[in-house]
Amino acid sequence: MPDALASQVAAGEVVERPASVVKELVENCLDAGAKEVRVESQRGGVAMIKVSDDGCGMSRDDAVLSLERHATSKLMDKEGLTSIKTLGFRGEALPSIASVSRFRLVSCEHGAVEGTEVTVEGGKLREVREAGAPPGTTVEVRDLFYNIPARRKFLRSEPTEAAHIDYQVRLHALACPEARMIHRKDGRTALDVVATNDRRVRIGDLFGRDLLPKIQEIPLVEFPGMSVGGHLLPPEDARKSRRGQYLFLNGRPVDDRVVWRALEEGFRGALPAGRHPVAWLWLEMDSLLVDVNVHPAKREVRFHRPAELRGLILEAVERALRGGRRERGDLKERRTEPGAGGRPQEVGKGSGERCEQGPQVEKGETGTEQVGVRPRNEREAVAVKGEPVAPARGWQAEVQEELVAAVKAPAAPAFRIVGVLDRSYLVLEASDGLVLLEGEAARERILYERFLAGAEKGVAESQGLLVPVLLELEARDADVALRNAENFREAGMEVESFGGVTVQLRSVPALLNDADPKALLLDLVDELVQSAEGRVAKSLTFEKFAGELAKVGARGERCRMESAQGLLDQLFACDLPYCTPDGRPTLVQYSSSELRRKFGRSH
Ligand code: ADP
Ligand code: MG
Repeated sequence: MPDALASQVAAGEVVERPASVVKELVENCLDAGAKEVRVESQRGGVAMIKVSDDGCGMSRDDAVLSLERHATSKLMDKEGLTSIKTLGFRGEALPSIASVSRFRLVSCEHGAVEGTEVTVEGGKLREVREAGAPPGTTVEVRDLFYNIPARRKFLRSEPTEAAHIDYQVRLHALACPEARMIHRKDGRTALDVVATNDRRVRIGDLFGRDLLPKIQEIPLVEFPGMSVGGHLLPPEDARKSRRGQYLFLNGRPVDDRVVWRALEEGFRGALPAGRHPVAWLWLEMDSLLVDVNVHPAKREVRFHRPAELRGLILEAVERALRGGRRERGDLKERRTEPGAGGRPQEVGKGSGERCEQGPQVEKGETGTEQVGVRPRNEREAVAVKGEPVAPARGWQAEVQEELVAAVKAPAAPAFRIVGVLDRSYLVLEASDGLVLLEGEAARERILYERFLAGAEKGVAESQGLLVPVLLELEARDADVALRNAENFREAGMEVESFGGVTVQLRSVPALLNDADPKALLLDLVDELVQSAEGRVAKSLTFEKFAGELAKVGARGERCRMESAQGLLDQLFACDLPYCTPDGRPTLVQYSSSELRRKFGRSH
């Protein structure tokens, strides 16, 4: 798949609306250790979004590289996905944004004489040049979705989009009080909050200083591998919606029902009916206990220990409401497994440390990699080295085992097959809402990857025909077919000249042995003739050829309940299960929140 197209496909997931651009860009600033982040937006961000920081900046090479897909500097290996500390981790945001806008990036490393300016339009690199610039990075995004009118049509009114941007800015301002955050909206300053080490100050600056006397502190409560602290408002200040609830996981804004439910449970009978508490929670959790790689853009995470998490939140809320501000030492005594847990990374560490910080990977002597586990005291250091440890297995060992088991299992998301729609779609229930799978698209992806795998191994499985098929083609078609004879052979299809415009087909790919050989060849030749290469008298690359063959081979794929699981398994055995070779989606999701919205529920 060409890179620009792949980026646009990814953009579908990453860039929902202007506020998603703001989110990604601000996260990058914070990852870069910025002390000041300035966001400018015009007309709800549709006309222009500009985000500047004074973070670590990028060299010329890095600036260009940052626009290539999966060029993250933050993820060192696949295992690293389980131990993500920085906000960004996929290397998908910048190329995705640049593929659907007019994009300009200016960056300069500290101490460098000159910076670099990179311009991209609709995913096409236009220019890279030297540019004078202050240390740090500025990204300017204009005319979002200008090249995808269908997406642009889905944007809401400018004030609505602007409100979403406001929310993202405030959310990140809360996440990182150590940075000054400025938002200029249509030329006017909408927000300017000073840097502080005190979250209370930031809360007051964002939500009104008059709240400060009412704010109750949630004392830091620690369980093995996790801790929570923060602030909340008393029950009488509860709101009609959950919009007053903010949750940060290891410094990153997230959304999670386990936590919200526990929070409300913690308030018990104190809440008036239909009201939701206002709270700002900072949760710190060892990266082994949480999976943040659930959705590229949404703020969902998956906690591996929901019951413990619930207990932690309950305890924290109860203590805050009791008003007891215990001393830290007092809390420490309460820890159930002293030494085994270890304290998660300290809250509110200088964000500067995030810059270029890779995941922690340590290799044990057994050769198994322990991800994200830093020895926190001597005993643990020994444990990491794989030597005998006296105490019973801690939670880390258990989780490690669970994770290893999870890695071995197929990577398919947990779908429940609900049924078949119109013989063309599988209806699936996912962890978040409804998913439709298009049978043809899925089959196309599966066939494509199998053809490629077969060709790579040089053993395309083929099914000989009892009676070779003779086909008389138009001269141009015969020419195209014979030019691609090598491609046909690699795919397990023997096609040869039978004199003049007649070609002989002697075998078909084993993968397609149910197909009518004659129709298969004719359809394929049609596709080849229509392809750009077909017109300029060249043979296709095998990849393209396999794509065409997969398209033809998948045509008419019918979905059936009996074979649904098999189809899913095959699809998720693919490297890129989510789209066809030419970028159409194989699965379309309607998230729970989207469904709720459609039924007129606000959250
Ligand atoms: P990710 O954040 O997932 O790594 P992005 O596409 O958001 O992916 O960014 C790609 C890379 O570009 C980052 O890993 C980082 O190295 C670099 N980068 C992006 N924005 C900035 C910035 N504001 N300051 C410094 N480096 C940046
Ligand atoms: Mg990022």
